[in-house]
Amino acid sequence: MVTAAADQEKTGLGNYFIANYPPFSFWKNTYLPDAEAVLNSPPKPGVPLGLYLHIPFCRKRCKFCYFRVYTDKNARDIETYLDAIVKEVELLSRTACVGGRPLDYVYFGGGTPSYLSAAQLDGLMTRLRQILPWDQAREVTFECEPGTLQKHKLETLRAQGVTRLSLGVENFKPEILQYNGRAHLEEEIYRAFGWARDLGFPQINLDLIAGMVGEDWDNWKRCVAKTIELAPDCVTIYQMELPYNTVFSKELKMVGNDDPQLAVADWPTKRAWVRYAFDELGKAGYEVSSATTVVKNKASTQFVYREALWRGADMFGTGVASFGHVNGVHVQNVDTWEAYIEKLNAGELPLGRAFPTTERDRLIREVVLLLKTGHLDVDYFRQKYGVDVRDVFRGAFDQLRGEGWLTVAGENIDTTRDGLMQIDRHLPAFFDPQYISTRYT
Ligand code: SF4
Repeated sequence: MVTAAADQEKTGLGNYFIANYPPFSFWKNTYLPDAEAVLNSPPKPGVPLGLYLHIPFCRKRCKFCYFRVYTDKNARDIETYLDAIVKEVELLSRTACVGGRPLDYVYFGGGTPSYLSAAQLDGLMTRLRQILPWDQAREVTFECEPGTLQKHKLETLRAQGVTRLSLGVENFKPEILQYNGRAHLEEEIYRAFGWARDLGFPQINLDLIAGMVGEDWDNWKRCVAKTIELAPDCVTIYQMELPYNTVFSKELKMVGNDDPQLAVADWPTKRAWVRYAFDELGKAGYEVSSATTVVKNKASTQFVYREALWRGADMFGTGVASFGHVNGVHVQNVDTWEAYIEKLNAGELPLGRAFPTTERDRLIREVVLLLKTGHLDVDYFRQKYGVDVRDVFRGAFDQLRGEGWLTVAGENIDTTRDGLMQIDRHLPAFFDPQYISTRYT
């Protein structure tokens, strides 16, 4: 008999990881006037401003991917999109909420930003920097798919000020890469990594996924050993989830599927893989910096984008379907190509839906997201929100402490290692009741 607890440990369909609060399903287009109001108001003093650019092109669609990406666009479509995103940044740069702030962080995500040619990237970045310079930014991150890189493309990125290169490796085994629909080959990982190191990028992150279809213990151990051999500055390990609307979710009919060939490992196995990787990387000198990341040197290897965003910084999310946050209001752009291009051609910001947060929403958001780093500093919240989070969330902390997921010692709240490995499933304990048990997206 399959028990409820056993069912919970299976990798079923749906989004498991929590990236924001309140959940996206509560964002509405009826809140767009709130977004417009904050865009047209000066910023709060001391709040940093970031820029996210969504580059939605990929060579092929990975079978587990649910992002808004396109695999069928030609060179002219791409030019149209790049003109549109530059236009969007230009419109945003003229809003009052910029308030003379220089960019603190920039993030090129996707999709696959490295899908663009060196010439397209050079042109795009030159135009963007004329509008909103990033010379003073603490970090400029650029996501890459190893098979799309050439040395001259990396030289262009370096010359344009990219400081953090993030390589989507996911796995090293050719059969697993292929079965999961990844476009790159194992040898391309080594080639790309070597060039990136030679060019002296200040920080290189390598992404892995624990639990790709076809994964087993032997191969996972080899992946971890190869990662340690490459010695990136930062390693990010995601646990495979199976959101709705992916090739796998349709192909595998996961719920109730007992065919081991098609199964994604259950959650305890994926957690064991991440734990193993963290332990091995720990022996190689890495330190845990969140539920998904280890870094070579915690003091010098920062991830500004994550830190700023999780602590409530402003960020313009540009590109189709992008998410942003401005002065307490969550914003998401329209999520179709046609609507995005059309709005910008008409000279309008392509806003799709928004959510004006309350002070309490922002407090919960910050508690929830920072718990993913494994540590909360009670005084930080006292200084920022004027409350003691131990009192505000007493019930949730007591519950999680009782179950062994965290400890509260004086002003420090720390997750246990087991708690950190599965932190996302415990975060709804901090949600207000109306936001619990809803479909997340
Ligand atoms: S490379 Fe990334 S964005 Fe592109 S299809 Fe794969 S998972 Fe999705």
